[in-house]
Amino acid sequence: MSTLHTLQQTLAHQQVDLCFIQNPSTIGYLTGFHSEPHERVFMLILVPNDKPLLVLPALDYELAKESTTGLQFLPHFDSENVWEKLAQTLRPYISQAKKVSIEKNFVTMQTLEHLTRVLPTIQFTHDVSSTIEQLKLIKTPEEIILLKEAGKTADLATKIAAQTLQEGITESAVIAEIEYQLKKQNVSKMSFDTMVLSQANAANPHGNPGLNKIHFNEFVLVDLGTMHQGYASDMTRTLFFGDNLSSEQEKIYNIVLEAHHTAREMAKIGMTASELDAIARNIITKYGYGDYFTHRLGHGIGQTVHEFPSIASGNDFVLQENMCFSIEPGIYIPGKIGVRIEDCFYLTPTGAQSFTFSPYSLNWKDYI
Ligand code: MN
Ligand code: MN
Repeated sequence: MSTLHTLQQTLAHQQVDLCFIQNPSTIGYLTGFHSEPHERVFMLILVPNDKPLLVLPALDYELAKESTTGLQFLPHFDSENVWEKLAQTLRPYISQAKKVSIEKNFVTMQTLEHLTRVLPTIQFTHDVSSTIEQLKLIKTPEEIILLKEAGKTADLATKIAAQTLQEGITESAVIAEIEYQLKKQNVSKMSFDTMVLSQANAANPHGNPGLNKIHFNEFVLVDLGTMHQGYASDMTRTLFFGDNLSSEQEKIYNIVLEAHHTAREMAKIGMTASELDAIARNIITKYGYGDYFTHRLGHGIGQTVHEFPSIASGNDFVLQENMCFSIEPGIYIPGKIGVRIEDCFYLTPTGAQSFTFSPYSLNWKDYI
């Protein structure tokens, strides 16, 4: 069953008569048509006893027709008053509409004012945001295929990073090379700003890459992700660029790796997000570095790089089959060192399956 059909059924149960969806990411998720409308009006309206209505810029009409099924369309030109046109089109559906939904976490005051002006009899009382978030939590087999494809290009990007490392190269130059090579391979965009951080700069988990030079016998933290047909990947490897590892570097790396692998092996359907976080955190704490693991273990992933569920201490949310999330333990000692190892997984009855397959070696040459 399509995600759109599932949403329609859920809203029918909630006795919702009309539902206005305006987040382009949600529209892409529900219809398969991904578009960035900028300031133009782009909206999916679920109406009673008829096909959902996609309101879209006329310039996107042909592409939307080709890439969707089961919709009716309301294309609008820049010269038209889209709100008046929308009100006319919705007239047949409005008389019985009592309960009307809107995405309260996305719609702006400006849009709401336009809608209430042209549809004065309607009251937008119901928030559909949480219903959509719940729906997005469990991935369909089709979505998992797309997430795997996004994972493949993240692995490729990590390989390019390893190939690019040389004494004195800047973090920015490595990022430029990764993204240049990916563009040539037709990767449309990254899922977030690529991070390449050398040794001490990596001690800030959300550090800013820049003109810092990468030196031999330092760690290089590479955190990146790509988009594939509207789905995101996210992975981190901490490469040791050198041949003379200090005992502290080796020790910290191996603790993070043990935390990562143990959490991955023990992740299972029915455990809570908090329990999974604790598995990794307890290992890092056992070695005395608990205070240096300063963030949650992971986050959900799908159409964006940060979704539900949050794999965090105190979150009693129960993990279910086909939920997708990252496992990314790290140790960050300010001014000194930062190590993180991250993959994203989907949960199956036999455990967590990864979307990415880069090695976990301490030798950067193994990634090439
Ligand atoms: Mn992540
Ligand atoms: Mn990441």
